[in-house]
Amino acid sequence: MIDLAVLKGSSFVVLGLARSGLATVRALRAAAIDCVAWDDNAASRDAAVQAGARVADPATIDWSGVTALVISPGIPSTLPVPHPVAVAARAAGKPIICDVELLARAQPEATFVAITGTNGKSTTTALIGHILQQAGLRCQVGGNIGRGALDLDPLGKGGLYVLELSSYQLELLQTFHADIAVWLNITPDHIDRHGDIPGYVAAKKNIFQRQRAGDCAVIGIEDEPSREVEREIAARPGIACIPVALDRPVANGISYRAGVLVDADGYTVDFSDVLTLPGDHNGQNAACAWAVCRWLDLPREAIVAGMKTYAGLPHRQERVAAVGNIVYINDSKATNADATARALSSYDDIYWILGGQAKEGGVAPLASYFDRIRHAFLIGEATELFAGQLEGKLPYSRCGDLQSALDAAHALAQREAQGEGKGPAVVLLSPACASWDQWKSYEHRGDAFRAMARALPGAEILGRAA
Ligand code: ADP
Repeated sequence: MIDLAVLKGSSFVVLGLARSGLATVRALRAAAIDCVAWDDNAASRDAAVQAGARVADPATIDWSGVTALVISPGIPSTLPVPHPVAVAARAAGKPIICDVELLARAQPEATFVAITGTNGKSTTTALIGHILQQAGLRCQVGGNIGRGALDLDPLGKGGLYVLELSSYQLELLQTFHADIAVWLNITPDHIDRHGDIPGYVAAKKNIFQRQRAGDCAVIGIEDEPSREVEREIAARPGIACIPVALDRPVANGISYRAGVLVDADGYTVDFSDVLTLPGDHNGQNAACAWAVCRWLDLPREAIVAGMKTYAGLPHRQERVAAVGNIVYINDSKATNADATARALSSYDDIYWILGGQAKEGGVAPLASYFDRIRHAFLIGEATELFAGQLEGKLPYSRCGDLQSALDAAHALAQREAQGEGKGPAVVLLSPACASWDQWKSYEHRGDAFRAMARALPGAEILGRAA
């Protein structure tokens, strides 16, 4: 837990008492710092009481002695409608911050590596953390992934915090400074919270705010808003700006394609055998991780060794089992067509399980990948919509639930694709849908798929035995 003694004499209101909010309350109380905690959910308030917080509705308190409101990034403080507590804080002239800001104030001597982007944040954060830890550096990984910022261990000088930061968290920082900032990509997302794309980009650009001479910015340049950001940051004096590009050399930057990355000095790394980093989207993640680790002066061999032992994250093209030469892949995190496109682009012979609660457009945007699909197995509410979209384009079956879909996909894949001389086929759960019609969450759906695949007759367990 982070020691917040440096904040002694302050007083905070903590709004939102899930993972990061509770960690904030615990850290504040451990340092004997006054805080009032609130969550609209009564069960969460009880947990805060257990953690030693004074629970009170902030609408009824006197704000005059309060230093700041620490808000959970999931709670809107501006758009679409600000939470009443945020309105009260603003009316009282109090700053609105998040837990990462407190971490920065408590650990001014540590080095901060911050990662943002629309997609690939968790993967890149986990990969960088893994490489640094493997290389023996003192490093902690958290933020929007894994442990809350104030749950991390204190590191002090020479220590490295590798933090995944969402646009919501980035909006709530005041003094936080990224020694190394990673910007992966931008596609429209969370527009309800930021008003429009410029609002979303502006929130994310806070990652470069307060960077100064000697700092480093690593920027993926595969979309126009990101190219614009790169031009702007490259023009700032003293900041080393490293562009990361698909399939083309860029001055002082890194390029990647099909599991190979090329550094600015021509040094080439082939990571195509790293099965946990498939596809060019992971090429972007790996190239950004490479840039960060090189900037930190890690020997090249140590970075390559870390990349080669990266275990991957659950539910993101996670290889969970094999039966003969057919691999079963859990990509339950793919809750929209864009994410599913990444998985479909990574394999050639696919027995595809999809469905759930459809997003706008369904699977129509995926048509360019249909020639890779041997058969589609439909589940959940989206069945009739997807059947209509696939009709006449590829063979499909209506399976109802996940177990039936896996059984059918398994039987067909083993019959058609098993045997000498056949290329590696995959049974892929990449639903392009939310899970809530049949599951509590995408994690719940993916955990079930993993267990089912590993229970198939003759299954060999791949990856972590989670
Ligand atoms: P995030 O934390 O930003 O949601 P993840 O690392 O959890 O990102 O990856 C989520 C999904 O996003 C992956 O399953 C994959 O479909 C897609 N993805 C991962 N990295 C990238 C990338 N660099 N560019 C585009 N899509 C990506």
